Amino acid sequence: MLKGKTAVVTGGSRGIGKAIALKLAQEGADVAILYAGNEAAAQETCSLIGQSGVTAKAYRCDVADDRQTKETVDAILADFGGIDILVNNAGVVRDGLILSMKEEDFDTVVNTNLKGAFHMIKHTYRHFMKKRSGRIINITSVSGVTGNAGQANYSSAKAGLIGLTKSTAKELAARNVTCNAIAPGFIDTDMTAALADKVREAAVEAIPLKRMGTPGDIAALAAFLAGDEAGYLTGEVIKMDGGLCM
Ligand code: NDP
Repeated sequence: MLKGKTAVVTGGSRGIGKAIALKLAQEGADVAILYAGNEAAAQETCSLIGQSGVTAKAYRCDVADDRQTKETVDAILADFGGIDILVNNAGVVRDGLILSMKEEDFDTVVNTNLKGAFHMIKHTYRHFMKKRSGRIINITSVSGVTGNAGQANYSSAKAGLIGLTKSTAKELAARNVTCNAIAPGFIDTDMTAALADKVREAAVEAIPLKRMGTPGDIAALAAFLAGDEAGYLTGEVIKMDGGLCM
């Protein structure tokens, strides 16, 4: 149970982040979500979180922006009185072969998926140190573990996020703060809805469990990592991909 705890979920307005925010709320946590621009989705998630009887608030914040993340973390600390669980989930894709990949598309993906998590960890670091407890969960991808043609920017960012996870775990372990990463495979969200039908079919065919994952699959693991029972687990990267990359 997460009653009395406060969770922050970046990219909590839609997809995997939304499912994680709802699951943590069901477990009793108050939840702050960050979103990029989809105000309607963010407000809908907040009202769904509220149905669990906990406090919910949405903050518009581009995690790629250092100043915005600092101001948002400060606002959350003032509004909620503390942070116990940080889920770095916000992410974007800009797929393409390296040969034709624009530098801007490389930078956007790295700045959101990797630097965004760095900003959030940096600005909550002192709080976690003082608190001498906490959970940080980073949503990476199997692309960051295996690499993926057409995703040089994304797999670089997600591989970097694994390095950030392990470094954070080592720096904060003495303060009883754990940091782990979840590496999802193909999960049914807006991000993968953009894939061509043929690509989706080929993906499902390659997955031993013969289905795409659901945001709820990832949320269940995130809730475990956020809970007391995961207290001896840190620096780990857990793939949840239906067996795709075993
Ligand atoms: P979605 O595209 O469905 O949702 C993305 C979320 O991130 C939205 O809430 C969006 O906010 C938010 N977001 C995007 N950019 C920013 C930003 N700069 N600052 C703050 N928030 C931002 O993605 P998924 O739910 O599919 O993916 C969630 C995470 O899981 C990502 O990190 C992704 O890389 C990872 N992942 C997903 C997989 C999949 O198959 N779906 C597989 C492996 C990993 P808004 O609603 O305002 O746009």
